[in-house]
Amino acid sequence: MKKYDYSQSARWLDRAKKVLASGVSSEFRKYNHPHALFYTHGKGSKLYDVDGNEYLDFTLSQGPLILGHSHPEILEAVQTYSLKGQLFAGQHAQEIELAEKLQQLIPSAERIRFCLDGSEAVQTALRVARSKTGKQKFLRFEGHYHGWLDNVCYGISTPASGETGPRNAPVIHPWSQGLSHGSAEEFFLLPWNNLELVQELVKQHHQDLAAIITEPVMCNNGCIPPKEGFLQGLRKICDQYGIALILDEVITGFRLGLSGAQGLYSILPDMAVFAKALGSGYPISAVVGKKEWMEEIASARVIHAGTMNAANPTVAAALATVSILERENPYPTMFALGDKLRQGLRQLAKDTGQPLLVSGIGPIAHTGFSDKNAVFDFRDVLSFDKGKLKHFISGMHDRGLRVIGRGLWYISAVHTEAEIDRALEIAKDALTEMK
Ligand code: PLP
Repeated sequence: MKKYDYSQSARWLDRAKKVLASGVSSEFRKYNHPHALFYTHGKGSKLYDVDGNEYLDFTLSQGPLILGHSHPEILEAVQTYSLKGQLFAGQHAQEIELAEKLQQLIPSAERIRFCLDGSEAVQTALRVARSKTGKQKFLRFEGHYHGWLDNVCYGISTPASGETGPRNAPVIHPWSQGLSHGSAEEFFLLPWNNLELVQELVKQHHQDLAAIITEPVMCNNGCIPPKEGFLQGLRKICDQYGIALILDEVITGFRLGLSGAQGLYSILPDMAVFAKALGSGYPISAVVGKKEWMEEIASARVIHAGTMNAANPTVAAALATVSILERENPYPTMFALGDKLRQGLRQLAKDTGQPLLVSGIGPIAHTGFSDKNAVFDFRDVLSFDKGKLKHFISGMHDRGLRVIGRGLWYISAVHTEAEIDRALEIAKDALTEMK
């Protein structure tokens, strides 16, 4: 097999490093194989780099490309609507149409505000929660990523000391230097999927707690579905103590179905946040919520603003995305392909004797190397063998298959059964080579 050559990308990276800090525009892009790469174009499930390498792409650009690269209807919608203008600093009809669609599809979306990305939308929801409850803190969970801003930039990476602390009082470990000192005081942190721990903490601190924020499926470290009754348990606790339940659906939104994880698990949050797949690669996100919570924004007690919010091309992209997903209902196929991929990978683990643990739900799969049979929280994921994962992912990448570096695979509406078969062949070769 001819290994992929990355020499042009290496040259471009040298050039980029002279102008862009470390050659990239987002930290995550550094961790490609064998280094940050430069791409020329993408089409459907395929992506191409400057060395002419072709990849069967399961990153979907970190999730947004639910309809694959360069979907013609998305590009046409963006082009058509952009020709009318880029941004009006005012309202436009497509924005209402998009909001009406979200209201119709998402159970908690009684009212909506559009923002640019997931990080901003999360902060908007937290501000609303603080305003309405008159309380200051929020509870979040180890390993859940809610963006890169200060008050959520903790508890998502491996502590340098390896020390996570007791389960009921985890070490609050920053992911970045330069965070404001106060930001570590804004939240409580707990391991996920453990209702007793939440009950204990809330009982003690409910006077301070404005919100509980959670990914409905923990997709940023492993891909771990909630334990039976966990989300419903959070709902009950929030109701009991007057706390906002915020679902971060940045990954699950429009990926697990048109009504998101909240539809799939029949859980009604007070607010929820959508981004990534909503915009098919264009910068748009939405904070949605029950009317009584979103009234904080409607009344201007909470200020939410943004020069670029709901710009014409982004709204056009989102409207086209949601319309295509509604019209074509790719979810049964995406879920079936997800099952096929996970089953195939589990079989390969058996066949090759590799300790490959495969998890996930619907069109999301995760591959980690572990002797455990199942994982339930971030602490389990921390014990995964990162060296083996890197080897596996590099081996697949060198054969033209791209997955997210932490072992996450996203299936789009344009992946085919034949491509899952091809992915399994490549995974088999990479696993066999690791022996
Ligand atoms: N929430 C979740 C669950 C995410 O996965 C992400 C990004 O990966 C964010 C929030 C932040 O979104 P963005 O990168 O669009 O700011």
